[in-house]
Amino acid sequence: MGEPMKVTEIFGEDVFNDTVMQERLPKKVYKDLKKTIEEGKELDLATADVIAHEMKEWAIEKGATHYTHWFQPLTGVTAEKHDSFISAPLSSGKVLMSFSGKELIKGEPDASSFPSGGLRATFEARGYTAWDCTSPAFVRHDAAGATLCIPTAFCSYTGEALDQKTPLLRSMEAINEQSIRLLRLFGNTTSKKVTPSVGPEQEYFLVDAKKFQERKDLIYTGRTLFGAMPPKGQELDDHYFGTIRQRIAGFMKDVNEQLWRVGVTAKTQHNEVAPAQHELAPIYAEANVAVDHNHIVMQTLKRVACQHGMKCLLHEKPFAGVNGSGKHNNWSLTTDDGKNLLDPGKTPHENIQFLLVLTCILKAVDTHADLLRESASDPGNDHRLGANEAPPAIISVFLGEQLEDVMEQLISTGSATHSIKGGKLQTGVRTLPDLAKDATDRNRTSPFAFTGNKFEFRMVGSRDSIAGPNVVLNTIVAEAFSEACDVLEAADDFDTALHDLIKKYAGEHQRIVFNGNGYSDEWIEEAERRGLPNLRSMVEAIPALTTDKAVAMFEKFKVFTRAELQSRAEIKYESYAKAINIEARTMIDMASKQFVPAVVKYTKSLADTVIAVKEAGADVTVQSEMLAEVSGLLGEMKKALEALKEIESKAVAMEEGAEQARFYHFQVVPAMEALRAPVDKLEMIVDKEAWPMPSYGDLIFEV
Ligand code: ADP
Ligand code: MG
Repeated sequence: MGEPMKVTEIFGEDVFNDTVMQERLPKKVYKDLKKTIEEGKELDLATADVIAHEMKEWAIEKGATHYTHWFQPLTGVTAEKHDSFISAPLSSGKVLMSFSGKELIKGEPDASSFPSGGLRATFEARGYTAWDCTSPAFVRHDAAGATLCIPTAFCSYTGEALDQKTPLLRSMEAINEQSIRLLRLFGNTTSKKVTPSVGPEQEYFLVDAKKFQERKDLIYTGRTLFGAMPPKGQELDDHYFGTIRQRIAGFMKDVNEQLWRVGVTAKTQHNEVAPAQHELAPIYAEANVAVDHNHIVMQTLKRVACQHGMKCLLHEKPFAGVNGSGKHNNWSLTTDDGKNLLDPGKTPHENIQFLLVLTCILKAVDTHADLLRESASDPGNDHRLGANEAPPAIISVFLGEQLEDVMEQLISTGSATHSIKGGKLQTGVRTLPDLAKDATDRNRTSPFAFTGNKFEFRMVGSRDSIAGPNVVLNTIVAEAFSEACDVLEAADDFDTALHDLIKKYAGEHQRIVFNGNGYSDEWIEEAERRGLPNLRSMVEAIPALTTDKAVAMFEKFKVFTRAELQSRAEIKYESYAKAINIEARTMIDMASKQFVPAVVKYTKSLADTVIAVKEAGADVTVQSEMLAEVSGLLGEMKKALEALKEIESKAVAMEEGAEQARFYHFQVVPAMEALRAPVDKLEMIVDKEAWPMPSYGDLIFEV
């Protein structure tokens, strides 16, 4: 055991945070920067120069040699280009380290190599990264040494967003403005700002790096494309919250330390449902910081896994038949003076502001269920949503007993007069203390669940940026708040108007509330009767981005222009098609070069055995039957392989866009499944020694 870790000392050590700024910046500069951070005031270049200089000096003390504008293009991962601090050599042949305000504020990566979906064709290739001073800069230590990372937004020459962050910041402004309007109506004159608070729970798998290297599918696609179920799966539920094995515990310790150093509040860690699956959750933060931190979490998990001889899989469905990974996006609204707009208090029926907020959210989610669903779509999540392990593809809201009861009172009598109480938890054991019980149980099957003082959007994919879902949440709720404020600001009698509005919203949007089992077939039928959308796949969800309803809303709140939405839809279709194409090609490659040859060899050894046993005069029934079975499946595999090749070449030849993406989903994916079936059957029959790669059992039980 080494030195004990001093958490309070290391936390935030590598962050250019408020304490560091206050210590290092001249008073006036510090004040100006705070104004920019808190009120969005523009920063002049002279001030930026001073900040840049101090930031550089601080970073160099931490060992930094380079800086990077760290941004989030539409590739799903973050991007960065490193510049060293050195300036042109002096006449003495030596160099100085320099970093100007201009370099801090603005970068110019070539935008033409990042997805821009149409925007690239019509606009210039030039792109800019702009410093997001509301998310602190930090120094990252890795094999490259130490690098000063500056969180930035990424835009085109004409100001179109080319990233995840710009619309997120815009949506945060929208929800801030509308929330303040709403608070003022209720007599709040003190709160200055409302920010969405976000806490994402990150699920992931760990596998042994050597075994990972033996699987082309994991290398190229992040998931297994073949693989029979091991004799034991997750049926015993013995992994969930189970004791963390030493190898994993050592990994988690290093992850925590590295995260704490850069100011990420890694809080909880535990084993998840599937063998080899784990979870990490930070303490919630302002939405844009939470998004940045979640990217840092994902990168840190990957980097530290490598340092421990493992690979971290962030794919939504690395193993068929075993639970996949998601990311629960916890969301609430917090004022600068610490009030949570989603806190119902002990007696929600009396908390009229809360009831308005709640019914507005119901209205928002019901009206834009398709957009919310779209925000959680990616190729990996297609395997998860609606597969009895994650919420169905249908959006509904879980309110729990207490709030549902309040809602029913509102709808039936027009006013709510009481709230169900939590009471005491009776364990039946005298030595255990009586615990205060929540007024509401939990529901793991709901995609959008109220959990005490926040909503938990449980559909998000494990690999995805959480920016998209939060952009949608912020904007749809801003729209609902704005419409409510329009009515209430114009009302002669505020109390009556408020009462009527809450009753109206509760009644009109009751259909989105569902407290039952979201995994059941009855719910699918019931949801259809209620007219709720069931967008089963990513390609079916993408059109939600460009409906008139979506365009009108995003344009009204200046979050996206129509062109930006169209470009995003285009990028999504393209990235879907590319992802499936890589998977199909990987399957073709593995089947042609690994499975067919291995099985051919195996049939030869079986045939030799049959001859030898026959010559020896013994019974060859079993050997002959096996040979026939294996040969039969080999034939099926070969046929399915040829079929996949043919359909894949058709798909590649199509023009990029919606139709091609749909072709991949409806034609190529089934052909992939058809190839997988005989291969998985063969894996169960063929001698383990003859099988060309590690099995599911090897991967998930032997980490
Ligand atoms: P679980 O939902 O598994 O019980 P927690 O209640 O601890 O877990 O919360 C999960 C995540 O939700 C954490 O990241 C936590 O910080 C975050 N969270 C808690 N309260 C809020 C809130 N008011 N707004 C947003 N996120 C929150
Ligand atoms: Mg949770």
